[in-house]
Amino acid sequence: MADKLNKKRLGIYIHVPFCKSKCAYCDFYSGNFSPDDRAEYLTVLEKHIKRIAPSADMYTVDSIFLGGGTPTILGGEGIALIGNAVASTFSLSGDLEFSVEANPGTVTHDDLKIMRSSGVNRISFGLQSSHDSELKMLSRIHSYSEFLSAYSDARDAGIDNINVDLMYGLPEQTVDSFAETVDRVSALSPEHLSLYGLKIEDNTPFGRMRDSLSLPDEDSEYEMYMTAVEMLRSRGYRHYEISNYAKNGRECRHNLKYWDALEYIAFGPSAYSYFGGKRYGYIGSLTDYCAAVEDGREPIEYCEEITEQDREAEYIMLRMRLRDGISAEDFYSRFGIDFEEKYRDKLNKYISIGVMVKDRDRYFLTDRGMYVSNTVISDIAEFDA
Ligand code: SF4
Repeated sequence: MADKLNKKRLGIYIHVPFCKSKCAYCDFYSGNFSPDDRAEYLTVLEKHIKRIAPSADMYTVDSIFLGGGTPTILGGEGIALIGNAVASTFSLSGDLEFSVEANPGTVTHDDLKIMRSSGVNRISFGLQSSHDSELKMLSRIHSYSEFLSAYSDARDAGIDNINVDLMYGLPEQTVDSFAETVDRVSALSPEHLSLYGLKIEDNTPFGRMRDSLSLPDEDSEYEMYMTAVEMLRSRGYRHYEISNYAKNGRECRHNLKYWDALEYIAFGPSAYSYFGGKRYGYIGSLTDYCAAVEDGREPIEYCEEITEQDREAEYIMLRMRLRDGISAEDFYSRFGIDFEEKYRDKLNKYISIGVMVKDRDRYFLTDRGMYVSNTVISDIAEFDA
């Protein structure tokens, strides 16, 4: 019904800030909170969702994404409760994508069955490596065999859209060990794979031991990336975004909203929204977030009106991450600006060194260009890299 009314489409992101323990590289807002804290958070989330939903009554939600943190710590029932809170307050599209991030060490067959019956139709497993020695070094709480069993449980529960996250550039990792991980995981035929290069963040265990980590050199890391690009292409995956690979039609709808600069509303501590011409972020503290919602206040820590100039720079920064890149015609219809004329010198420079390609009116990064995308995109959009 809602779809027929031609409402604007909206994504919902919900941050679940709970993890059994912290991984050595992770600087997301999450921690090992008590069962009481988790129960209180669910109550607060329900209230917050109910309060915000009327502001989106002209929208249809076509994606829900539960990320974290570790949403699966809430169990199937907790996830179903969040799904019901959204379904009973927002208008949902008939072809909703409902994704949940799952840590293989925290999900059971029963949880997956409850999740599936409550509408979850996409699971994103944080695996990172198929080698137990690498998983241990990352302080992951699961083994590769636990992942295999969770993956098979998800299929058995009827989840036909699965993503697996992998990482490269890890300490002690070799090109061969990463290739073996990509080979083993792609042989399972998940619909989607996300491959991230390790970034050492200051406020993490890896950040504190930065100088003693034995990291692969730049050439090896580039070889890992190119090995994966070629292997996955030969196995039917499209490299549709810098870090993301999908089988035909299985691109992540929710993440495409970020890269297409489309609107989404987020809930939870540290979560960011883009809605009604503003970007705003909630406070990164579970206690303060819950207290604000209970008091009837919005727990906003940061809010920015997006100017026309911001929108143009953001659009370049986000769209250039995609294999489809930027079409000059689309750009003109959005901003009334001739993309080729305005950015000609930079576009030509990157085409001449082989990191960008032009096909008809469309400009996009090559595989090598995606690897150095931070530098290229920030130069074109005039951000500091
Ligand atoms: S499970 Fe995910 S969110 Fe939690 S600490 Fe590890 S990487 Fe961070």
